[in-house]
Amino acid sequence: MPNYDFQCEKCQKIFEIRRSLDDRSIPKCQFCEHQKTKKLISAPGIVFKGKGFYKTDSIKTETKKQEIKKTKK
Ligand SMILES: [Zn+2]
Repeated sequence: MPNYDFQCEKCQKIFEIRRSLDDRSIPKCQFCEHQKTKKLISAPGIVFKGKGFYKTDSIKTETKKQEIKKTKK
C-alpha cells in the first residue's frame, strides 16, 4: 500500500498515512485530531517550497530526506 501525506488545516502539520488506493476517506490530524485535512501530492524535490509552513516540522523533514536517499540508491 502506498503512503500518503496529509496536512492538517488547523495546525498545518503534515503526517503520513498508509492506505489503499481506493480509500478516499479523509483521516483526522495525527497531532491535534482536527477533522479537516487535505491530501498532499508527494513529489520529492518540489515539496511545499514558498508556502511558509513546514518550518517547525524539522523532525518529519529529516525523516523524509532519509527515506528519499534510501530509495534513490
Ligand atoms: Zn492538526
